[in-house]
Amino acid sequence: MDRLRAAAARREEAGLRRDLRPRTPDHDGLLDLASNDYLGLSRDERIVEAAVRATREWGAGSTGSRLVTGSTRLHAELEDRLAAFAGASGALVFSSGYLANLAAVAALGRDGLIVSDAGNHASIVDACRLSRSRVVVTPHGDTEAVAKVLAERHEEHALVVTDAVFSVDGDVAPLRALHEAAVRHGALLVVDEAHALGVVGDHGRGAAHAAGLAGRPDVVRTVTLSKSLGSQGGAVLGAPEVIGTLVDTGRSFIFDTGLAPGCAGAALAALDLLEASPGLPARARERARELAALARGLGLETADPAAAVVPVVLGPPRLALAAAALCADHGVRVGCFRPPSVPQGRACLRLTARADLRSDDLVVVRGALTAVAELTKGPSRGWDR
Ligand code: PMP
Repeated sequence: MDRLRAAAARREEAGLRRDLRPRTPDHDGLLDLASNDYLGLSRDERIVEAAVRATREWGAGSTGSRLVTGSTRLHAELEDRLAAFAGASGALVFSSGYLANLAAVAALGRDGLIVSDAGNHASIVDACRLSRSRVVVTPHGDTEAVAKVLAERHEEHALVVTDAVFSVDGDVAPLRALHEAAVRHGALLVVDEAHALGVVGDHGRGAAHAAGLAGRPDVVRTVTLSKSLGSQGGAVLGAPEVIGTLVDTGRSFIFDTGLAPGCAGAALAALDLLEASPGLPARARERARELAALARGLGLETADPAAAVVPVVLGPPRLALAAAALCADHGVRVGCFRPPSVPQGRACLRLTARADLRSDDLVVVRGALTAVAELTKGPSRGWDR
């Protein structure tokens, strides 16, 4: 306990303690720019009703692992619908996107070479560690570095893995160039579409679809059902050989209880809604551009958002924490990202746009970001301490 308390004290000193605060259903009365509910579907009546119906019919839990009793007709239907929606030949549903990444990267990359972008999500980092492969982390967005590592490899098989939309910076990976490099060197490309599904491309079919890579046998996609689809769970999309490998050898597939039926029902209803509402993803992207323009107009460092994620880079963790608290004081809940979630010196606020944001919401955001801009220009209160 002494060791744990001392380590906690060091994190406290560095501004790196985490606060686990339960929220109320209405986000404590704050405007929510922190969740990943990009299309506002998690509380949409149609989605909630679909979850209730599926739960009534199939039960609250799936009762077992997918290979025993945890596969219902709903799971099979969801797999068919996800594959059809994203233009993939097949899909395999997991109980989270995290577990989908663990299986895709660890099982497909096993005992070979994995080339992973420095900005990739923690679930990919963990999957690389589980793969027992040589892992080379390349600088963020550097396709030439990827190609060089592939060309100089001694391993027989190789896998290139990248987020489609990076979870904090919100930028899109150079998918076409990465695919070209992967194909040239006989490697598979794994693309994590967590922040792209439902937001990027026609009807929100994702970044790989938008790049013309859907259905390519050498492209494997992972998705989460927990962000734009408003549900929970994940999936891997790919060729029959890929899906078969994961069913037989993907440990996070085999040894985990199947996705809860209510989540499968909710995700199916969300896919119906996306097919019927082509304007929804574009609205989320438009709101993101408006948020970024607001931040930039106030002199804050941000980026051109390609999806719904808008970073506001502040630097020191303490400054980011103070800025997030200030936003809450002004009625807006934002995400606050500090190392190790972001590189040292790049602590930031993460604003997520939602398709259902109204123009008066943006007025409230302006008030909050104005206060943040003033804080950054004011005297340092030991931010770098
Ligand atoms: N990949 C990325 C890029 C993510 O941001 C996340 C969620 N934070 C995941 C995977 C994991 O998905 P899930 O939350 O469904 O486990």
